[in-house]
Amino acid sequence: MTNLSLSDELVLRERILERLAHLRDQSGGTVTRAQLANFEIDGQRLPLIDQGRGIRNPRDFHATLSILSKQDGQYDDRQVDQGYYVYAYQRDSAEGDNRKLRAAIAPSLPMILLRWLEAGVFVPIFPVYAVADDPTARIFLIALDESLRFIPDPQNLKEQVKQYAEQVTRRRLHQPVFRASVIRAYETRCAVCHLHHGELLDAAHIMPDSHEAGVPHVSNGLSLCKIHHAAYDQNLMGIRPDNVVEINRELLEERDGPMLKYGLQRMHGSTITLPRRKLEHPDPEALAWRYNQFQAS
Ligand SMILES: [Zn+2]
Repeated sequence: MTNLSLSDELVLRERILERLAHLRDQSGGTVTRAQLANFEIDGQRLPLIDQGRGIRNPRDFHATLSILSKQDGQYDDRQVDQGYYVYAYQRDSAEGDNRKLRAAIAPSLPMILLRWLEAGVFVPIFPVYAVADDPTARIFLIALDESLRFIPDPQNLKEQVKQYAEQVTRRRLHQPVFRASVIRAYETRCAVCHLHHGELLDAAHIMPDSHEAGVPHVSNGLSLCKIHHAAYDQNLMGIRPDNVVEINRELLEERDGPMLKYGLQRMHGSTITLPRRKLEHPDPEALAWRYNQFQAS
């Protein structure tokens, strides 16, 4: 039995997502298991994760609130199929879990996909929607975007829709995971100026996405504040393969206010702060390729 009406539940879900977005943005894209377990709304504790289970079904809710991705490798998304997340039935738990996920389909209730990043850390993807149930394959399909909610027969997409769905996966899943991984590797700081505010940080690509070597791995990224990201993209700031920052010659000679003086000119000749793990350091070859573009401009 549930105490909430469906419309009240929808309003509550939207407020939960808003608050979750705030938590996620503060850290630069991730939430911890502790934040999810101690989540509160209106002074009431409402965990967004179920300890030990891959699905969170609050008792008063009509349907599932969150599902957990498997603890796969960081960039392994075998569970994704053309814009839809393939969620296997809960095997070792009561049919109740699957029933509650099924109950999210018809009213199209927004849910949260907790994408596992590392022990105790998740990239929350939302809103996602359960759109189909395949009892033979024992799977649910979860749409990663509102636009994919009402496409008929999601298990047999037409070629054009397929391409669109792949773009959605990139935008809604792969890009947020890349961003969160990079910012987390740099401990939520700008590699150049150390600014420690997730809301003001970006994951900059060293080799652009469009380049064939522009892989979405942390070693092809830099955690940069908005200003340094823009300066890097515009070749007003370069980073040498030995991790030293250079500011564009002309910009060094300009005279202006404190942002130019302290934010840019003072960074010339400094060394960027590197992630603790060697594996996550920027790839010197990628830096060299990019530094050539800076010099040429
Ligand atoms: Zn910065």
